Amino acid sequence: MNYAKIKWTDISNGPGVRVSLYVSGCRNHCKGCFNPETWDFNYGDPFTEEVENSIIDGMKPDYIKGFTLVGGDPFEPENQKALAPFLEKLRAAYPAKSIWCFTGYDFEKDLLTGKLGDADLVTRMLSCLDVLVDGRFVEELKNPGLWFRGSSNQRVILVQQSLARDEVVRLVAITDRLYVRKFNECDEEGLYEILGDGQTMKFIEPPFTRDGTREFLRDICIGKGYALAAELKDTGKLIGYILIKPCGDGLYETGWIFHKDYRGRGYAYEAVNAVFDYAFAELGASEFTASADERNQPSLNLIEKLGMKYVRSEKEDGNLLLVYMKNKGNK
Ligand code: SF4
Repeated sequence: MNYAKIKWTDISNGPGVRVSLYVSGCRNHCKGCFNPETWDFNYGDPFTEEVENSIIDGMKPDYIKGFTLVGGDPFEPENQKALAPFLEKLRAAYPAKSIWCFTGYDFEKDLLTGKLGDADLVTRMLSCLDVLVDGRFVEELKNPGLWFRGSSNQRVILVQQSLARDEVVRLVAITDRLYVRKFNECDEEGLYEILGDGQTMKFIEPPFTRDGTREFLRDICIGKGYALAAELKDTGKLIGYILIKPCGDGLYETGWIFHKDYRGRGYAYEAVNAVFDYAFAELGASEFTASADERNQPSLNLIEKLGMKYVRSEKEDGNLLLVYMKNKGNK
């Protein structure tokens, strides 16, 4: 395998400062590709053991948060043989640093089916990755505001979670302690723990039944995509539900419900701020609204901490709701 370049302090191909390896060779030939010189498998220099060791050394400093494979395409059959053992070496050396990979191929159709190159090597590569950004770059869908991808068809995938749950788990943001991601079918149990709890739902609505949770998950969270999930990075536990529902003209209704065992530790603040950033950048949001029962002081405190401004009060089912707004100006 040849490689085009190494960036030793890269801040644009994954979260934090990272070492990035640009491999040579790509058959996708996407129109508008940002690195067309790397399509040629002979471009650049040979990826020798010395180069591997220099990357492993370069990953040592604490400020290096992870490693990213960019292309060219790391999953081209010609590149798999060198990259599978290298990624294994890197993973063993730095179990706590994240490994990201960008590919023009499709996670389910090309990588999981074993159709691309050597299925065993592909499996070994996937087993080392935290995050895969997949799909060809489509110039017509280009959006510079997207989080770590060039066009909106591309997906940021949590690889180990997707393999374990047998569903594609799509990431939209990362905070210090959380993954903020789209909901999946396998979230039913975790969501029921939150929405089915009477204490949690005290000032919101009656607790959900198991069937009601399933229906809500399928229809609102997955079908309409009006909600995002907050999952603990270290255990994978679903601890929060965040509503992000479009109401027209860039206005989004928001709301959040967090697991009773994880309240008062700043998780909701962390997750909701990340959702605001995601919606401003990716959904074209310009304004958010949120409301809480006047008796729900913790929720009102959080709303104000998030920089939302009180606009009015509304009566609902005999209770008084305080309504707040936030726009780019009070971000
Ligand atoms: S997959 Fe990436 S490197 Fe290959 S052509 Fe598309 S944008 Fe360029």
